[in-house]
Amino acid sequence: MFIDVHMHEMTYSKDSFLKLDEIVKIAKEKGLGAVCITDHDSMGFKEYAQEYTEKTGFPVFVGVEFYSLQGDIVAFGIEDCPKERIPAQDFIDFVKAQGGICFAAHPFRNNRRGLEEHVLKVKGLDGLEVLNGSTSKEACRKAAEYAKRLSLFPLGASDCHVPEKVGVCVTYFPEEIRTFGQFLAAFRKGDMKPAYYKDGAYRILYSYSSPIDVNIDEL
Ligand SMILES: [Zn+2]
Repeated sequence: MFIDVHMHEMTYSKDSFLKLDEIVKIAKEKGLGAVCITDHDSMGFKEYAQEYTEKTGFPVFVGVEFYSLQGDIVAFGIEDCPKERIPAQDFIDFVKAQGGICFAAHPFRNNRRGLEEHVLKVKGLDGLEVLNGSTSKEACRKAAEYAKRLSLFPLGASDCHVPEKVGVCVTYFPEEIRTFGQFLAAFRKGDMKPAYYKDGAYRILYSYSSPIDVNIDEL
């Protein structure tokens, strides 16, 4: 089952042009089984997403993309996110204390929003986003090398803010996931793989540690 684990909806991500209805419509067309809304420093979408899922039956999970002092970290399974920027390690500890999961978003993107070399210093990350739909091939490749080196789960996500990007990169989970609890459990197990959408189908990156030749700009 394919899930886009990092997406932005316009209600709480002011830089997004996407409404949830449009996200879900495109996600279904591409064959995704669930989507994750991870707005910038906000989990305000949680209640609406729950209602939406109950009403439509399509799973929408809400996490957050938190801008720590060292860079962006996506987290799930926490009640709310800190109101102020705090060190990356403090945020990871905060997530772990609540039984949540987290991964470094686009660690090597060149806009100073990734953790970069800090991924080597922090403890407790579950995964690294090795395919990000809005990040260069080189930065994705470097992230894949670090994921292997640090034995962190490799993930794929679109990080979409516009319709063209919805579901371009996603994460493959071997099991069927319907509930948020199942999502967290599958994530902790760690059998997921990054994947990308090309020519009408998803392709799974099984050996992500070899050079990534996906040209993100062409997806
Ligand atoms: Zn993002």
